[in-house]
Amino acid sequence: MIKRLDNIKLHIGVNERELLKIAQKSLKKPVKYFKIIKKSLDARDKGNILWVYSIAFSDEPERQKPALEKLKGSPQVAVVGSGPAGLMCALRLVEHGISPLIIERGERVEEREKTTREFFEKRILDPQSNVQFGEGGAGTFSDGKLNTQTHDGLNRDVLEYFVRFGAPEEILYLNKPHIGSDKLKSVLKNIREFIVQNGGRYLFNTRLTGFNSSNGRLKALILQNTRTGEESELQADCAVLAVGHSARDTFEMLYGSGIKMTPRDFAVGVRIEHLASEIGFSQFGKNYKLLPAADYKLVSHAHERTVFTFCMCPGGVVIPAASEEGGVVVNGMSDYARNGVNSNSALMVQMRASDFGENLFDGMEFQRTIERKAFEAGGRTYSAPVQLYKDFAADRISQNFGEVLPTYSAGTVFAPLNEVLPQVAVSALKAAIPDMDKRLRGFADPSAVLTGVETRFSSPVRIERGEDLQSVSLMGLYPCGEGAGYSGGITSSAADGIKVAEKIYGSIKNHMIFI
Ligand SMILES: Cc1cc2nc3c(=O)[nH]c(=O)nc-3n(C[C@H](O)[C@H](O)[C@H](O)COP(=O)(O)OP(=O)(O)OC[C@H]3O[C@@H](n4cnc5c(N)ncnc54)[C@H](O)[C@@H]3O)c2cc1C
Repeated sequence: MIKRLDNIKLHIGVNERELLKIAQKSLKKPVKYFKIIKKSLDARDKGNILWVYSIAFSDEPERQKPALEKLKGSPQVAVVGSGPAGLMCALRLVEHGISPLIIERGERVEEREKTTREFFEKRILDPQSNVQFGEGGAGTFSDGKLNTQTHDGLNRDVLEYFVRFGAPEEILYLNKPHIGSDKLKSVLKNIREFIVQNGGRYLFNTRLTGFNSSNGRLKALILQNTRTGEESELQADCAVLAVGHSARDTFEMLYGSGIKMTPRDFAVGVRIEHLASEIGFSQFGKNYKLLPAADYKLVSHAHERTVFTFCMCPGGVVIPAASEEGGVVVNGMSDYARNGVNSNSALMVQMRASDFGENLFDGMEFQRTIERKAFEAGGRTYSAPVQLYKDFAADRISQNFGEVLPTYSAGTVFAPLNEVLPQVAVSALKAAIPDMDKRLRGFADPSAVLTGVETRFSSPVRIERGEDLQSVSLMGLYPCGEGAGYSGGITSSAADGIKVAEKIYGSIKNHMIFI
């Protein structure tokens, strides 16, 4: 029988082996099988910071999950996009005995890493393989944070898949789990090997550029090799569309093909960088060095526009995240150790249709315009425009960095961010930063560096799908993940991929498709 103990507190620095002793004391006999099922930090009292655990123990080993039901000789399903949504969809299909063909415009992760480094260091952008596009999708060069606000039961499956393919086991029980960009890359390779060994295939450097249909049903995908330009047609009755929020050309193609989409609101902003030690001290007091790099999550209603921090990267770096020529986009990334000098976070302002227009692609154009202004302000070289917080607040161009040095590797240029961002965003940020400082001392540090611009917060469109998860305009097409507007972040996108896979499996099993 499995027993569970909750709310066990250990002082920071105490070895976790103590937990076993506590379990044995409670059971009054030696514990055979023991595991942590929850671990969180209680830092309310900075003089007495505690780790809080739930543990489970039993006399028998944990039962393995039963294997999923498999179809024999099932048809091939195309999965477009190998981000968290597409990959987890493909993985689940494989486990059901369905062979997916994964179509990915970017490179496999080994080559993608080199291509992306070329951009980070030499500012040579490959519009087909970059931080947004390529194996692993937008999450590959990230912090790999896995917490989500959704309560989908499939979130657990996502974490278990990550652990099975090489992520640290702690992500199953930490309340704020993260993998780190370094570990994520090997997880991606392991997933690829498993998919290929089980009958799946990958087509890298291959972009979906159109499709053929008949009587409202998908018949074939039109593909283009992104290196040679060669076009091909692939017969497909079923395709998962997991293209992410940056596939602007694909959204335009879908619109041109009559696929129903609707515009969505989104947010724009900057990355803010502080010294990680300052954030640590502010959150944990003098003991911060004994703890993992501190994070934060802040919201401000000081302005009529809500401002919020997003995708905080403790001990991470700000990275060049553009995917279109002539635009600067920033984002954040950390390795597993999160041991960089700075910590950064996106600082986002909610935008509304009244800011950018009611038409389907007005939001996308609005994002693009801001990215181009940032490109101009950065000197047209993919260097990013930056400003110290004190100078942003005073409407003057910075002259020198203070204690915080920017980590954006493609170079920075002192520039007025108030001329790059929409005015409403500028005034909202000016009101929010000192307001946030009331909850996190040092947030409004005069030497904090603001780097522009953060525009790829979410998809500017939704690709409408019905209860059966198929496009309302085309049977056989399954819009999925963040680009389609059904998730935000790695875990919820991956969970949406599994949900779509289960739907496809159910349809094939019931002979609803491929007849
Ligand atoms: C730098 C960075 C850091 C991030 N950090 C975090 C984090 O720590 N935690 C978190 O939860 N989220 C983070 N995110 C967000 C997260 O990565 C996304 O929410 C998630 O990747 C969305 O998954 P997806 O599969 O829906 O789309 P994506 O990951 O965007 O994948 C879409 C894939 O489709 C491919 N594609 C696009 N168009 C086509 C086409 N026409 N043909 C073929 N292939 C195509 C793309 O190349 C891409 O690989 C981060 C994002 C970035 C950019």
